[in-house]
Amino acid sequence: MKGLEFLQEIESVTGESISTCFQCYKCTVGCPVISMMDIYPHSIIRHIILGNRDRVLTSKTIWVCLQCITCSVRCPNNIDIARVFEALRKIAVKEGKEAEKDTWQFDEIFMESVNRHGRLYEGGTIIRYKIKRRDFLSDFRMGLGLFLRGRIGVLPHAIKGRRVLKGLLRKRED
Ligand code: SF4
Ligand code: SF4
Repeated sequence: MKGLEFLQEIESVTGESISTCFQCYKCTVGCPVISMMDIYPHSIIRHIILGNRDRVLTSKTIWVCLQCITCSVRCPNNIDIARVFEALRKIAVKEGKEAEKDTWQFDEIFMESVNRHGRLYEGGTIIRYKIKRRDFLSDFRMGLGLFLRGRIGVLPHAIKGRRVLKGLLRKRED
C-alpha cells in the first residue's frame, strides 16, 4: 500500500501515467548523461512504482538530468520522464533530501535569469551563484578564459518575446 501511495503521489503531481511503464529501457538508452547517474532513468521509474521513496528522492540521477527531454520523446508510453524528474527534485528539496544542493541552487539562479531576461545572463548568474556558495576561487581560471574569449556576457541582453517565454515557463510550473 505504501508503494502505491508514492506512485499515486507522483502521478498526481505530474499528470503522467507512470504505471504504464513496461521497462523497455528506451529512456535510459537515449540519455546522454547516464554515465554520471547512480540509478538509470528506467530504474527510477521502476523504483517509483515499487514505492522506494527515499531511494528515489536521495538519488543523484534526478540532479544529473539535463532536462533535455530525449527520454520523454523516446518513451513509447508517452511518459514525460523529464517532467517526473523535475517534480522529484522539488519534493526532494521540500523534504531536505536533495543529493546535490549546489545543483539546486544553480538551477534556481539560472531559471531566475531566464525568467527575467528571456535568456541566460552569464555574468550575473555566475556572480549570484558564487556569492550564494561563498566560493570565489574555484573555477577561476576557466571563468577567466571564457571571459577573455567573450563567452561571458558582462551586461544582460533581454530577448524581445520575453513576456511570452515567461508565460510558457509559468505554465510549465503549474
Ligand atoms: S521509455 Fe518509457 S516505458 Fe520504456 S522504460 Fe522508460 S519510462 Fe518505461
Ligand atoms: S531529460 Fe534527463 S534523464 Fe531524460 S534523457 Fe535528458 S538528461 Fe537523460
